[in-house]
Amino acid sequence: MPTLAKRATEIKPSPTMAMSALAAEMKRAGRDVIPLSLGEPDFHTPQHIKDAGIEAIRSDFTKYTAADGFAPLKKAIIAKFARENGSTYTADQIVVGSGAKVIIYAAMLSVVNPGDEVVIPAPYWVTYPDHVELAGGKPVFVVGEESTGFKITPQSLSSVLNAKTRAIIFNSPSNPSGAIYTEDEIRALADVLKKYPDVWIVTDELYEHLAYDGEKTATFAQIIPEFSDRIITINGFSKGYVMTGWRLGFAAGPKKVMKAIGDLLSQLTGSPSSIAQAAAIAALDGDQSFLSANREVFEARRNFVVERLNKVPGLSALKPAGTFYVYINCRDWIGRTSGAGKKLSTDVAIAEALLDESEMAAVPGEVFGLSPFFRISISLEMALLEKAMDRFDAFAKAMR
Ligand code: PLP
Repeated sequence: MPTLAKRATEIKPSPTMAMSALAAEMKRAGRDVIPLSLGEPDFHTPQHIKDAGIEAIRSDFTKYTAADGFAPLKKAIIAKFARENGSTYTADQIVVGSGAKVIIYAAMLSVVNPGDEVVIPAPYWVTYPDHVELAGGKPVFVVGEESTGFKITPQSLSSVLNAKTRAIIFNSPSNPSGAIYTEDEIRALADVLKKYPDVWIVTDELYEHLAYDGEKTATFAQIIPEFSDRIITINGFSKGYVMTGWRLGFAAGPKKVMKAIGDLLSQLTGSPSSIAQAAAIAALDGDQSFLSANREVFEARRNFVVERLNKVPGLSALKPAGTFYVYINCRDWIGRTSGAGKKLSTDVAIAEALLDESEMAAVPGEVFGLSPFFRISISLEMALLEKAMDRFDAFAKAMR
């Protein structure tokens, strides 16, 4: 058999998706697995959005659109940025693509030359380092410690920036920690970035609508308008609008880079789905009440889960300000032995034991670049979350 390209042998499948697939397989085999690894809301796409997609099919809006997005959707996105973020864009500063994921990849291909460094705050979304490497760049990690709410500081950021840095990938609210940077924190980071005018700021705001306690996500583009020639804002429909399977995301930024991203997407995905784009117009222009309704459900679950987790012997968790994840500190479990006799030497071993012995699929911190932690999703009904908390208790109590 002819050999594969080096790239193909090095690429890792998404570990979070792999864990969810394993949990689903175990469930199909009849095991009572709680899929705490889920990376999508457990609600359904709101009816008016589905109706707009169905209407698009009925009215034969089923062909290719412009590669970088259908003009009426771009108009709705421009209105969204003006309404929610106080940012002003023109249509040539907006790109629509088949999910935020492929847009982030196209952004990396557009700004990273081989050997360039890209700063990624840890814990990070698992895909960023792979995208940087696929573009020939070198991921450089900077840890947001638990003591600073999993956020990087101006000091830690300055310690990794240098003449080779091409970009930073910033994510707030953050997957996996749920951390949200305040306006002042963003200003302080921007002060450091001022000294590096050639560094792009790629800011992933996919969880924008999942911020709790009345908090509003602050965006780089709004707070630091003087950086408008170097900010690439990434957003999408998957999480807040409950449209993961529709595969649609968008980005905003300077015309030159948006054109490059749009041209790359034209060669990678052709055009985003026409049907999904029609539905997305309804998501942005239609009734928005589902956003706060879903947020309230997640907030109640988060409050319950964090309170219970902090009572489990050996576990502790900060209250995430946003997203539907909780990043749990399991330092006190390291070195212990599970009820079934497995040595818990790393967070990977802990995640394996949780799956084998307690039938709970959690994702080890190692894949997010910060150990010893594991991530759970609260995107499950309350009854299942209660059951999960009981299982954590039982797992901890069975430990030696
Ligand atoms: N960015 C973050 C932080 C995510 O967690 C995800 C999905 O899990 C994505 C981007 C990808 O989103 P999309 O479904 O729009 O491709």
